[in-house]
Amino acid sequence: MTRSISIFGATGSIGDSTLDLIRRNRGEWRVVALSAHCSAEKLAKLAREFGAEIAVVSDESCLTELRGALSGTNIQAAGGAQALCDAAAIEADLTVAAIVGCAGLAPTMAAIARGGVVALANKESLVSAGEVMTNAVAKHGATLLPMDSEHNAIFQCLEGGKLDDVRWITLTASGGPFRTKTMAELDAATPKQAVAHPNWDMGAKISVDSATMMNKGLEYIEAFHLFPVGLERLRIIVHPQSIIHSMVEYRDGSTLAQLGPSDMRVPIASTLAYPARMNTPCEPLDLAAIGELSFFAPDEERFPATRLAREAANAGGAAPAILNASNEVAVAAFLDSQITFTQISAIVARTLEQLTLAAPQSLNDVLAVDAQARVRAREMLVSA
Ligand code: NDP
Ligand code: MG
Repeated sequence: MTRSISIFGATGSIGDSTLDLIRRNRGEWRVVALSAHCSAEKLAKLAREFGAEIAVVSDESCLTELRGALSGTNIQAAGGAQALCDAAAIEADLTVAAIVGCAGLAPTMAAIARGGVVALANKESLVSAGEVMTNAVAKHGATLLPMDSEHNAIFQCLEGGKLDDVRWITLTASGGPFRTKTMAELDAATPKQAVAHPNWDMGAKISVDSATMMNKGLEYIEAFHLFPVGLERLRIIVHPQSIIHSMVEYRDGSTLAQLGPSDMRVPIASTLAYPARMNTPCEPLDLAAIGELSFFAPDEERFPATRLAREAANAGGAAPAILNASNEVAVAAFLDSQITFTQISAIVARTLEQLTLAAPQSLNDVLAVDAQARVRAREMLVSA
């Protein structure tokens, strides 16, 4: 029995890892849609290799290049934001949401609206939309399978358990490349240093988020929506080896943890095969070679992002979307050498302070909050 799959963000790091697993099991999958933003040549190559039915570039100005690269095939080429949502609305057994940023929200909502099963890597979309997304999931009978390694770990630890019996959900954080750096060193940190993650090989944006700890802040909000135990039962611990991907402690004192190599193909495989299991090419864990697992409390003086995310989650309403949008703007500016590393969190904090917007009730409301927060955050870049 083959299953059909669509991958949004197919040319990125999660896209690569997902397609690597599909490639090893080609006979089991039929590829419906693949998307990129503007990497037309890479997208066309993948679409040809996997015999995709449709390839979409969300940046319409790249459609001509995509059409050229797909000429002589019967793969449909499409471009633009609406084309992306139309492709996500096409029936597929599994839809992988692996676009980076709130840009992935609309296609993910389109897949949810057809009651699809969505393997969610794109945390920014859930952070921004919150209840707008979880309500749509409930309304349309859709399913979210968490692909983010921590949430996939929690999902596995909760299997067979009841949320009512959960005492704590503990998200582990590697601490990123700057875990032991001083404030002065953080001030001088360069984009190149920030994207060099010690354990994981990821896209540039999430690598910077890992360095500021905003990745864990976003994941805290993501966990709040995926596993509704209440914010007071969610916590974060720094675990530099990234072997334990997260834990669930039950009220009887039992803690279940999911362990694995720092390779996204493990959580991705868990969602691709769910509820069964599949092989991955990842090296088995060698705990004796690893030797020690260590844990530290997060330092919110040097890394205020987790505090900002906790405050935004507590405030609710538009705050998480403002947090996310201002962070996207600030991270892009840092990668472009317009601001320093420590200014990223400062800009997020100031945008949150200055902007009060009504709680979004619909996808369009979320996109409007996102747009307004971007405008405000960009104004701050000028004064930063
Ligand atoms: P990458 O930057 O490697 O890839 C991003 C993908 O999204 C590419 O296909 C890119 O296309 C596409 N894209 C970029 N901008 C837009 C846009 N404006 N509209 C539509 N598509 C766009 O990111 P990652 O794979 O690292 O991350 C993807 C998501 O998964 C993020 O939300 C991240 O937080 C999450 N995640 C990633 C992990 C990882 O290990 N990488 C781990 C856990 C979660 P193009 O190539 O044309 O630019
Ligand atoms: Mg993660």
